[in-house]
Amino acid sequence: MMLDGDRSFLFHSSSSRVIFGMGSLTKAPEEINRLRAKRVLILTTPGRKKLGEDMATELGAKAVGVFDRAVMHVPAEIAERARGEAARLGADLCVAIGGGSAIGLAKAIAAGASLPILAIPTTYSGSEMTSTWGLTEHGIKKTLRDARVQPQTVIYDPALTLSLPAKLSATSGMNAMAHCVEALYAQDANPITSLLAEEGIRSLTKGLPAVVRDPLDRDARSLTLYGAWLGGMSLGATTTALHHKLCHILGGAFDLPHSETHAVLLPHVTAYNARGAPRAMARIAQALAPEGVAKSAAQLLHDLEASMKTPLSLRSLGMNQDGVDHAAALVMEKPFYNPSALTKEGIRVLLEDAFEGRPPRI
Ligand code: NAD
Repeated sequence: MMLDGDRSFLFHSSSSRVIFGMGSLTKAPEEINRLRAKRVLILTTPGRKKLGEDMATELGAKAVGVFDRAVMHVPAEIAERARGEAARLGADLCVAIGGGSAIGLAKAIAAGASLPILAIPTTYSGSEMTSTWGLTEHGIKKTLRDARVQPQTVIYDPALTLSLPAKLSATSGMNAMAHCVEALYAQDANPITSLLAEEGIRSLTKGLPAVVRDPLDRDARSLTLYGAWLGGMSLGATTTALHHKLCHILGGAFDLPHSETHAVLLPHVTAYNARGAPRAMARIAQALAPEGVAKSAAQLLHDLEASMKTPLSLRSLGMNQDGVDHAAALVMEKPFYNPSALTKEGIRVLLEDAFEGRPPRI
Protein backbone atom coordinates (compact mmCIF):
# COMPACT_ATOMS: atom_id res chain seq x y z
CA MET A 1 0.00 0.00 0.00
CA MET A 2 1.36 3.42 -0.92
CA LEU A 3 1.43 6.45 1.34
CA ASP A 4 -2.15 7.16 2.24
CA GLY A 5 -2.86 10.85 1.50
CA ASP A 6 -0.81 13.72 2.92
CA ARG A 7 0.44 12.05 6.07
CA SER A 8 3.22 13.20 8.39
CA PHE A 9 4.89 10.59 10.51
CA LEU A 10 7.84 9.78 12.70
CA PHE A 11 9.79 6.57 12.27
CA HIS A 12 12.33 5.54 14.87
CA SER A 13 14.47 2.57 13.86
CA SER A 14 15.94 0.05 16.25
CA SER A 15 19.69 -0.19 16.46
CA SER A 16 19.98 -3.93 17.14
CA ARG A 17 22.27 -6.15 15.07
CA VAL A 18 20.21 -9.17 13.97
CA ILE A 19 21.58 -12.55 12.88
CA PHE A 20 18.85 -14.82 11.52
CA GLY A 21 19.11 -18.40 10.31
CA MET A 22 18.92 -22.08 11.10
CA GLY A 23 22.02 -23.00 13.15
CA SER A 24 23.00 -19.37 13.82
CA LEU A 25 23.49 -20.13 17.53
CA THR A 26 27.04 -21.15 16.56
CA LYS A 27 27.71 -17.44 15.85
CA ALA A 28 27.23 -16.54 19.53
CA PRO A 29 30.94 -16.68 20.59
CA GLU A 30 31.91 -14.47 17.64
CA GLU A 31 29.14 -11.99 18.48
CA ILE A 32 30.20 -11.92 22.13
CA ASN A 33 33.74 -11.07 21.03
CA ARG A 34 32.38 -8.35 18.81
CA LEU A 35 30.74 -6.83 21.89
CA ARG A 36 34.18 -7.00 23.61
CA ALA A 37 32.72 -8.89 26.55
CA LYS A 38 35.02 -10.68 28.98
CA ARG A 39 32.62 -11.74 31.75
CA VAL A 40 29.32 -13.14 30.52
CA LEU A 41 26.31 -13.83 32.75
CA ILE A 42 23.85 -16.23 31.09
CA LEU A 43 20.18 -15.81 31.98
CA THR A 44 17.47 -18.34 31.35
CA THR A 45 14.32 -19.99 32.71
CA PRO A 46 14.45 -23.26 34.71
CA GLY A 47 13.01 -25.02 31.63
CA ARG A 48 15.85 -23.83 29.36
CA LYS A 49 18.61 -24.47 31.93
CA LYS A 50 20.39 -27.05 29.75
CA LEU A 51 20.67 -24.53 26.90
CA GLY A 52 22.23 -22.03 29.30
CA GLU A 53 24.69 -24.58 30.63
CA ASP A 54 25.67 -25.69 27.13
CA MET A 55 26.31 -22.07 26.24
CA ALA A 56 28.51 -21.68 29.36
CA THR A 57 30.53 -24.77 28.37
CA GLU A 58 30.96 -23.39 24.86
CA LEU A 59 32.19 -20.02 26.20
CA GLY A 60 34.58 -21.56 28.76
CA ALA A 61 36.18 -19.12 31.21
CA LYS A 62 34.33 -16.20 29.66
CA ALA A 63 31.05 -17.47 31.17
CA VAL A 64 31.08 -16.32 34.80
CA GLY A 65 27.64 -17.68 35.72
CA VAL A 66 24.28 -19.14 34.69
CA PHE A 67 21.23 -17.65 36.44
CA ASP A 68 18.29 -19.91 35.61
CA ARG A 69 15.54 -18.43 37.82
CA ALA A 70 13.79 -16.23 35.24
CA VAL A 71 9.97 -16.43 35.43
CA MET A 72 7.08 -14.64 33.77
CA HIS A 73 6.26 -10.98 34.47
CA VAL A 74 9.67 -10.30 36.14
CA PRO A 75 8.84 -10.34 39.87
CA ALA A 76 10.80 -7.56 41.62
CA GLU A 77 12.49 -9.98 44.06
CA ILE A 78 13.89 -12.14 41.22
CA ALA A 79 15.12 -9.02 39.41
CA GLU A 80 16.85 -7.94 42.63
CA ARG A 81 18.55 -11.32 43.03
CA ALA A 82 19.71 -11.34 39.40
CA ARG A 83 21.08 -7.79 39.70
CA GLY A 84 22.97 -8.84 42.82
CA GLU A 85 24.40 -11.85 40.98
CA ALA A 86 25.54 -9.70 38.02
CA ALA A 87 27.29 -7.28 40.39
CA ARG A 88 28.87 -10.05 42.50
CA LEU A 89 30.25 -11.76 39.37
CA GLY A 90 31.42 -8.50 37.77
CA ALA A 91 29.50 -9.34 34.58
CA ASP A 92 30.01 -7.08 31.56
CA LEU A 93 27.40 -8.71 29.28
CA CYS A 94 24.07 -10.49 29.81
CA VAL A 95 23.29 -13.29 27.39
CA ALA A 96 19.56 -14.04 27.60
CA ILE A 97 18.72 -17.40 26.09
CA GLY A 98 15.07 -18.38 26.29
CA GLY A 99 11.66 -16.78 25.94
CA GLY A 100 10.43 -13.35 26.98
CA SER A 101 10.98 -14.19 30.66
CA ALA A 102 14.75 -14.67 30.24
CA ILE A 103 15.00 -11.56 28.06
CA GLY A 104 12.84 -9.57 30.50
CA LEU A 105 15.16 -10.46 33.36
CA ALA A 106 18.21 -9.38 31.36
CA LYS A 107 16.45 -6.07 30.72
CA ALA A 108 15.77 -5.61 34.44
CA ILE A 109 19.52 -5.98 35.07
CA ALA A 110 20.46 -3.77 32.13
CA ALA A 111 18.16 -0.98 33.30
CA GLY A 112 19.93 -0.75 36.65
CA ALA A 113 23.51 -1.53 35.67
CA SER A 114 23.69 -0.39 32.02
CA LEU A 115 24.91 -3.84 30.97
CA PRO A 116 24.58 -4.69 27.27
CA ILE A 117 22.43 -7.66 26.22
CA LEU A 118 22.85 -10.35 23.62
CA ALA A 119 19.43 -11.99 23.20
CA ILE A 120 18.83 -15.46 21.82
CA PRO A 121 15.04 -15.92 21.74
CA THR A 122 13.50 -19.38 21.84
CA THR A 123 9.83 -18.28 21.71
CA TYR A 124 7.92 -15.75 19.61
CA SER A 125 7.49 -13.06 22.31
CA GLY A 126 9.38 -10.33 20.41
CA SER A 127 10.75 -8.77 23.61
CA GLU A 128 14.27 -8.83 22.14
CA MET A 129 13.31 -6.07 19.67
CA THR A 130 11.93 -3.57 22.17
CA SER A 131 13.21 -1.10 24.70
CA THR A 132 10.31 -1.75 27.06
CA TRP A 133 10.64 -3.89 30.12
CA GLY A 134 8.31 -5.00 32.88
CA LEU A 135 8.56 -5.37 36.62
CA THR A 136 5.87 -6.84 38.87
CA GLU A 137 5.46 -5.81 42.48
CA HIS A 138 2.43 -6.28 44.78
CA GLY A 139 0.26 -7.53 41.89
CA ILE A 140 0.95 -4.52 39.65
CA LYS A 141 3.04 -4.93 36.51
CA LYS A 142 4.79 -1.73 35.56
CA THR A 143 5.94 -1.25 31.98
CA LEU A 144 8.92 1.00 31.53
CA ARG A 145 10.78 2.22 28.46
CA ASP A 146 14.55 2.67 28.52
CA ALA A 147 16.84 2.65 25.47
CA ARG A 148 19.57 0.91 27.53
CA VAL A 149 17.55 -2.33 27.72
CA GLN A 150 17.28 -2.81 23.94
CA PRO A 151 19.54 -5.79 23.16
CA GLN A 152 22.66 -4.84 21.19
CA THR A 153 22.61 -8.10 19.27
CA VAL A 154 19.88 -10.66 18.61
CA ILE A 155 20.50 -14.16 17.29
CA TYR A 156 17.40 -15.81 15.81
CA ASP A 157 18.03 -19.50 15.36
CA PRO A 158 14.80 -21.30 14.34
CA ALA A 159 16.43 -24.62 15.39
CA LEU A 160 16.03 -23.48 19.02
CA THR A 161 12.27 -23.28 18.58
CA LEU A 162 11.87 -26.87 17.35
CA SER A 163 11.40 -28.01 20.96
CA LEU A 164 8.65 -25.47 21.71
CA PRO A 165 5.50 -27.62 22.12
CA ALA A 166 2.69 -27.11 19.58
CA LYS A 167 0.36 -25.60 22.20
CA LEU A 168 2.89 -23.04 23.42
CA SER A 169 4.00 -22.31 19.85
CA ALA A 170 0.40 -21.45 18.93
CA THR A 171 -0.13 -19.04 21.83
CA SER A 172 3.36 -17.54 21.60
CA GLY A 173 2.76 -16.98 17.87
CA MET A 174 -0.50 -15.21 18.72
CA ASN A 175 1.50 -13.00 21.10
CA ALA A 176 3.59 -11.98 18.06
CA MET A 177 0.38 -11.57 16.03
CA ALA A 178 -0.97 -9.21 18.70
CA HIS A 179 2.13 -7.00 18.32
CA CYS A 180 1.44 -6.73 14.58
CA VAL A 181 -2.30 -6.12 14.98
CA GLU A 182 -1.90 -3.41 17.60
CA ALA A 183 0.95 -1.72 15.64
CA LEU A 184 -1.40 -1.25 12.68
CA TYR A 185 -3.82 0.91 14.68
CA ALA A 186 -1.26 2.47 17.03
CA GLN A 187 -1.46 6.20 17.62
CA ASP A 188 2.05 6.49 16.18
CA ALA A 189 1.64 3.92 13.38
CA ASN A 190 3.61 4.91 10.29
CA PRO A 191 4.03 3.49 6.78
CA ILE A 192 7.14 1.50 7.71
CA THR A 193 5.83 -0.13 10.88
CA SER A 194 2.59 -0.93 9.05
CA LEU A 195 4.54 -2.74 6.31
CA LEU A 196 6.47 -4.68 8.94
CA ALA A 197 3.28 -5.56 10.78
CA GLU A 198 1.45 -6.70 7.65
CA GLU A 199 4.35 -8.91 6.62
CA GLY A 200 4.47 -10.24 10.18
CA ILE A 201 0.77 -11.16 10.03
CA ARG A 202 1.22 -12.87 6.65
CA SER A 203 4.24 -14.86 7.87
CA LEU A 204 2.56 -15.94 11.10
CA THR A 205 -0.71 -16.83 9.35
CA LYS A 206 1.18 -19.16 7.02
CA GLY A 207 3.85 -20.43 9.39
CA LEU A 208 1.99 -20.98 12.66
CA PRO A 209 -0.65 -23.52 11.60
CA ALA A 210 2.11 -25.53 9.88
CA VAL A 211 4.19 -25.45 13.10
CA VAL A 212 1.19 -26.63 15.11
CA ARG A 213 0.61 -29.49 12.65
CA ASP A 214 4.27 -30.48 12.74
CA PRO A 215 6.51 -28.77 15.34
CA LEU A 216 9.59 -30.21 13.58
CA ASP A 217 8.81 -28.51 10.25
CA ARG A 218 11.96 -26.41 9.86
CA ASP A 219 10.64 -24.16 7.08
CA ALA A 220 7.52 -23.37 9.09
CA ARG A 221 9.66 -22.67 12.16
CA SER A 222 11.80 -20.23 10.15
CA LEU A 223 8.78 -18.44 8.71
CA THR A 224 7.13 -18.17 12.13
CA LEU A 225 10.27 -16.86 13.82
CA TYR A 226 10.65 -14.35 10.99
CA GLY A 227 7.06 -13.24 11.65
CA ALA A 228 7.85 -12.99 15.36
CA TRP A 229 10.86 -10.79 14.61
CA LEU A 230 8.66 -8.47 12.53
CA GLY A 231 6.11 -8.47 15.35
CA GLY A 232 8.84 -7.49 17.82
CA MET A 233 10.01 -4.69 15.53
CA SER A 234 6.45 -3.40 15.10
CA LEU A 235 5.95 -3.46 18.86
CA GLY A 236 9.28 -1.77 19.53
CA ALA A 237 8.60 1.08 17.10
CA THR A 238 5.05 1.97 18.19
CA THR A 239 3.11 2.50 21.38
CA THR A 240 0.47 0.01 22.40
CA ALA A 241 -3.25 0.31 23.14
CA LEU A 242 -6.02 -1.65 24.84
CA HIS A 243 -4.84 -5.15 23.99
CA HIS A 244 -1.37 -4.93 25.52
CA LYS A 245 -2.67 -2.85 28.39
CA LEU A 246 -5.23 -5.54 29.29
CA CYS A 247 -2.70 -8.39 29.00
CA HIS A 248 -0.30 -6.57 31.31
CA ILE A 249 -3.00 -5.82 33.85
CA LEU A 250 -4.22 -9.43 33.90
CA GLY A 251 -0.67 -10.81 33.99
CA GLY A 252 0.37 -8.60 36.89
CA ALA A 253 -2.84 -8.84 38.94
CA PHE A 254 -3.64 -12.55 38.49
CA ASP A 255 -0.30 -14.01 37.33
CA LEU A 256 -1.98 -15.37 34.18
CA PRO A 257 0.28 -17.03 31.58
CA HIS A 258 1.45 -14.36 29.14
CA SER A 259 1.05 -15.80 25.66
CA GLU A 260 -2.18 -17.66 26.49
CA THR A 261 -3.70 -14.40 27.78
CA HIS A 262 -2.76 -12.68 24.51
CA ALA A 263 -4.39 -15.48 22.52
CA VAL A 264 -7.66 -15.38 24.49
CA LEU A 265 -8.01 -11.58 24.33
CA LEU A 266 -6.85 -10.76 20.80
CA PRO A 267 -10.08 -11.51 18.84
CA HIS A 268 -12.16 -9.71 21.51
CA VAL A 269 -10.02 -6.55 21.53
CA THR A 270 -9.86 -6.57 17.73
CA ALA A 271 -13.67 -6.68 17.61
CA TYR A 272 -13.86 -3.90 20.21
CA ASN A 273 -11.56 -1.69 18.11
CA ALA A 274 -13.14 -2.50 14.73
CA ARG A 275 -15.22 0.71 14.53
CA GLY A 276 -12.43 2.96 15.74
CA ALA A 277 -9.83 1.75 13.22
CA PRO A 278 -11.60 0.62 10.01
CA ARG A 279 -8.59 1.11 7.69
CA ALA A 280 -6.21 -0.79 9.95
CA MET A 281 -8.80 -3.57 10.28
CA ALA A 282 -9.05 -3.87 6.49
CA ARG A 283 -5.26 -4.22 6.25
CA ILE A 284 -5.19 -6.79 9.06
CA ALA A 285 -7.98 -8.82 7.40
CA GLN A 286 -6.19 -8.64 4.04
CA ALA A 287 -2.94 -9.90 5.60
CA LEU A 288 -4.78 -12.68 7.45
CA ALA A 289 -6.58 -13.80 4.28
CA PRO A 290 -4.56 -12.62 1.25
CA GLU A 291 -6.84 -14.59 -1.08
CA GLY A 292 -9.69 -12.35 0.05
CA VAL A 293 -12.37 -13.65 2.39
CA ALA A 294 -15.40 -11.58 3.36
CA LYS A 295 -14.78 -11.80 7.09
CA SER A 296 -13.71 -9.26 9.68
CA ALA A 297 -10.21 -9.19 11.18
CA ALA A 298 -11.62 -10.33 14.54
CA GLN A 299 -13.45 -13.27 12.94
CA LEU A 300 -10.34 -14.31 11.00
CA LEU A 301 -8.23 -14.21 14.18
CA HIS A 302 -10.89 -16.23 15.99
CA ASP A 303 -10.95 -18.80 13.14
CA LEU A 304 -7.15 -19.06 13.08
CA GLU A 305 -7.07 -19.69 16.81
CA ALA A 306 -9.92 -22.21 16.60
CA SER A 307 -7.97 -24.12 13.94
CA MET A 308 -4.98 -24.31 16.32
CA LYS A 309 -7.13 -25.04 19.38
CA THR A 310 -5.65 -22.25 21.53
CA PRO A 311 -7.38 -21.66 24.90
CA LEU A 312 -10.60 -19.67 24.59
CA SER A 313 -11.36 -18.49 28.10
CA LEU A 314 -9.65 -16.56 30.88
CA ARG A 315 -11.37 -18.94 33.28
CA SER A 316 -9.40 -21.84 31.80
CA LEU A 317 -6.19 -19.86 32.46
CA GLY A 318 -6.96 -19.68 36.19
CA MET A 319 -8.65 -16.29 36.54
CA ASN A 320 -11.56 -15.88 39.02
CA GLN A 321 -14.86 -14.30 38.02
CA ASP A 322 -14.46 -11.43 40.52
CA GLY A 323 -11.27 -10.45 38.67
CA VAL A 324 -13.38 -9.13 35.77
CA ASP A 325 -14.63 -6.02 37.59
CA HIS A 326 -11.27 -5.46 39.25
CA ALA A 327 -9.43 -5.58 35.91
CA ALA A 328 -11.99 -3.27 34.23
CA ALA A 329 -11.45 -0.75 37.02
CA LEU A 330 -7.66 -0.98 36.65
CA VAL A 331 -7.91 -0.32 32.87
CA MET A 332 -9.86 2.88 33.53
CA GLU A 333 -7.47 4.16 36.22
CA LYS A 334 -5.20 6.11 33.87
CA PRO A 335 -6.29 7.32 30.42
CA PHE A 336 -4.39 5.98 27.39
CA TYR A 337 -4.80 6.03 23.62
CA ASN A 338 -7.14 3.51 22.02
CA PRO A 339 -8.85 3.81 18.62
CA SER A 340 -12.31 3.02 20.06
CA ALA A 341 -13.49 4.98 23.09
CA LEU A 342 -12.89 3.20 26.38
CA THR A 343 -15.77 2.77 28.79
CA LYS A 344 -15.73 0.74 31.97
CA GLU A 345 -18.89 -1.09 30.89
CA GLY A 346 -17.43 -1.83 27.43
CA ILE A 347 -14.26 -3.27 28.97
CA ARG A 348 -16.27 -5.24 31.51
CA VAL A 349 -18.39 -6.83 28.76
CA LEU A 350 -15.26 -7.63 26.72
CA LEU A 351 -13.60 -9.26 29.75
CA GLU A 352 -16.78 -11.13 30.66
CA ASP A 353 -16.92 -12.61 27.13
CA ALA A 354 -13.22 -13.52 27.28
CA PHE A 355 -13.67 -14.96 30.77
CA GLU A 356 -16.47 -17.25 29.58
CA GLY A 357 -14.81 -18.11 26.26
CA ARG A 358 -17.66 -16.69 24.16
CA PRO A 359 -16.98 -15.76 20.51
CA PRO A 360 -15.96 -12.12 19.91
CA ARG A 361 -18.84 -9.65 19.28
CA ILE A 362 -18.30 -9.17 15.56
P1 NAD B 1 8.56 -17.66 28.80
O1 NAD B 1 9.83 -17.02 28.44
O2 NAD B 1 8.17 -17.64 30.24
O3 NAD B 1 8.54 -19.15 28.27
C1 NAD B 1 7.40 -19.98 28.53
C2 NAD B 1 7.87 -21.40 28.88
O4 NAD B 1 8.39 -22.00 27.71
C3 NAD B 1 8.97 -21.45 29.93
O5 NAD B 1 8.72 -22.54 30.78
C4 NAD B 1 10.23 -21.72 29.10
O6 NAD B 1 11.22 -22.40 29.82
C5 NAD B 1 9.67 -22.55 27.98
N1 NAD B 1 10.42 -22.46 26.71
C6 NAD B 1 10.95 -21.34 26.16
N2 NAD B 1 11.49 -21.65 24.97
C7 NAD B 1 11.31 -22.99 24.77
C8 NAD B 1 11.65 -23.87 23.72
N3 NAD B 1 12.25 -23.46 22.61
N4 NAD B 1 11.32 -25.17 23.87
C9 NAD B 1 10.66 -25.62 24.97
N5 NAD B 1 10.30 -24.82 25.99
C10 NAD B 1 10.62 -23.51 25.88
O7 NAD B 1 7.31 -17.03 28.00
P2 NAD B 1 7.20 -15.94 26.82
O8 NAD B 1 5.78 -15.94 26.46
O9 NAD B 1 8.22 -16.12 25.79
O10 NAD B 1 7.55 -14.57 27.57
C11 NAD B 1 6.67 -14.02 28.51
C12 NAD B 1 7.31 -12.84 29.23
O11 NAD B 1 7.91 -11.95 28.30
C13 NAD B 1 6.30 -12.04 30.03
O12 NAD B 1 6.86 -11.65 31.26
C14 NAD B 1 6.05 -10.84 29.13
O13 NAD B 1 5.60 -9.71 29.82
C15 NAD B 1 7.40 -10.63 28.51
N6 NAD B 1 7.34 -9.93 27.21
C16 NAD B 1 7.92 -8.69 27.15
C17 NAD B 1 7.90 -7.99 25.96
C18 NAD B 1 8.57 -6.64 25.87
O14 NAD B 1 8.66 -6.05 24.82
N7 NAD B 1 9.07 -6.12 26.96
C19 NAD B 1 7.30 -8.55 24.82
C20 NAD B 1 6.71 -9.81 24.92
C21 NAD B 1 6.75 -10.50 26.12
